[in-house]
Amino acid sequence: MDIIIVLIIAGLAAIFLTYPFFISRKPKASRDINHGDEDIIIDPLSDKINRLESQKDSLYTAIQDIEFDYGLGKLSAEDYQELKQQYKLQAVNVLKKLDEINKVAGLNLIGSEIENEITAIRKSTSPHANLKCESCGTEYKTGDAFCSKCGSKLNGE
Ligand SMILES: [Zn+2]
Repeated sequence: MDIIIVLIIAGLAAIFLTYPFFISRKPKASRDINHGDEDIIIDPLSDKINRLESQKDSLYTAIQDIEFDYGLGKLSAEDYQELKQQYKLQAVNVLKKLDEINKVAGLNLIGSEIENEITAIRKSTSPHANLKCESCGTEYKTGDAFCSKCGSKLNGE
């Protein structure tokens, strides 16, 4: 019994991990197939949302990649800033389009969800992301001298 549950969980995890691949490959394929056969698309709005979502995902991945490369010293500060700016502008355009669709559809959640994702990505890729107080484990920012929770002296950069 237990083994079956474990297998199901492992299967779901595998699907979850490979899911972005399917999403990012989908738009090209569906566009090719549907070319000239517009009536095949049952729901053009959700098709559009899916395309924008996958664009958004690839832009986030790209931003993550350059932040990683920059962290490794593979990218110069200039290149990094320029690339990041470009990706951000593209992301903003995608977000605007998504926002327009959401207003029409009456969903306004995605905007804040995106903000959260960007913050999470930045946190996970920032070189100083996980500074923690040695006494109580509270996270602190670069430059903080004392822990905001327990008041211990911090020895971060
Ligand atoms: Zn502390």
